[in-house]
Amino acid sequence: MKICLIGLNLTNLILAKVLEEKRLNVDIYLNKKIQKSKTNRTIALSSENFDYVRFFTKLSVIPWKNKEIKIFTEDSNSKEIINFNNKKKEVFNLMPYSKLNEFFLNETRKSKFIKFLYTDTSSSVILKKIKDYDLVINSENKNFISGKFFTNKIRKNYRSRAYTFLINHRSKNNDTAIQVFTKYGPLAFLPLSSTKTSIVFSYKGMKINDKKIYNIFKEYNSFYSLKKISKIEKFDLSFEMLRNYTHDNILAFGDLIHRIHPLAGQGFNMTIRDIKIVSKIVNDKISLGLPIDSSVAQDFQDSTRHLNYLYGKAIDGIYEFFKFDSKVNNSISKPVFKILNKNSFFKKYSNILSDKGLNL
Ligand SMILES: Cc1cc2nc3c(=O)[nH]c(=O)nc-3n(C[C@H](O)[C@H](O)[C@H](O)COP(=O)(O)OP(=O)(O)OC[C@H]3O[C@@H](n4cnc5c(N)ncnc54)[C@H](O)[C@@H]3O)c2cc1C
Repeated sequence: MKICLIGLNLTNLILAKVLEEKRLNVDIYLNKKIQKSKTNRTIALSSENFDYVRFFTKLSVIPWKNKEIKIFTEDSNSKEIINFNNKKKEVFNLMPYSKLNEFFLNETRKSKFIKFLYTDTSSSVILKKIKDYDLVINSENKNFISGKFFTNKIRKNYRSRAYTFLINHRSKNNDTAIQVFTKYGPLAFLPLSSTKTSIVFSYKGMKINDKKIYNIFKEYNSFYSLKKISKIEKFDLSFEMLRNYTHDNILAFGDLIHRIHPLAGQGFNMTIRDIKIVSKIVNDKISLGLPIDSSVAQDFQDSTRHLNYLYGKAIDGIYEFFKFDSKVNNSISKPVFKILNKNSFFKKYSNILSDKGLNL
């Protein structure tokens, strides 16, 4: 059985390890022209997703465990409107994206089942290279195949950017993540160690310079005594859901099939849940003696597309709710969250949804 993955990103590196574990040979197509991105960005993985990745890869990256999430609005002052915690487990694990990527790059390079093949994925030559594979998984957002076969999407441009940076601060007991729904957009404080915290500020609007971002951040930072602030990285924000995940022997995957607002830190968690589903479909085929081919792509689409859409829309709904709420001076969130904060059923299921998604 011939399987290939297009794109050398975290999604494909993890997927390659999952397939390797089943003793399947995998070719990864990568593009020499694409520079390795240097990023300070962090990634929050739910406890179930982190355990999944750690279990089968013996992951050596040690995350910072966040035990609680507190949500504030513009005028909630020092008292959060709601908090989420799980007495038994962390609510999520935070780690640098680059560390995770480096670990998987080293692991895949060592594997005798995984081969790296250089080609220009942005040109039509890639079509010739992949035509004899039984299954092709394309996770590269911008390449020839994505531009030709996977453009039919439900899209929404948030007309806003995420500004991410790291802060060094005085040492403190730092295991509570904070999200403030400011009048400028959601601002998240994501603890990375006792002295380091990652900031994700999704500012509404496109025209603002870095100095203003730092100033707004400082206005809302009543939590940390700052020592140093890193450079800012920027990401344009959109909601994108691909209408059709398959074309011939190709399955579109990762951020190419769903891109969501980062306010809940769920984008890559959705991808890990998708990887688990692909893994199960492949296991079932192997145990029935069936080929690993385009039927995997079809089965994957049938079992996930509607759920991914609903999940993405729910995150978008949270964004729109707080956007509207901020226009009416938080007059909706105040009474609503007063009730929800006391509702253990709501809190329990919010935790489960961020851990397991809708594939319950
Ligand atoms: C501000 C922000 C915060 C986020 N926070 C979270 C979070 O906390 N939790 C969460 O679950 N999700 C989060 N997400 C979503 C998450 O970041 C993405 O789902 C994830 O980064 C996708 O990673 P990837 O490496 O698979 O793909 P990509 O980001 O598309 O690829 C990364 C890199 O791979 C390399 N690459 C790709 N293709 C090739 C190729 N052909 N050849 C060579 N190199 C290649 C390039 O260097 C590229 O830059 C966030 C997103 C944003 C914008």
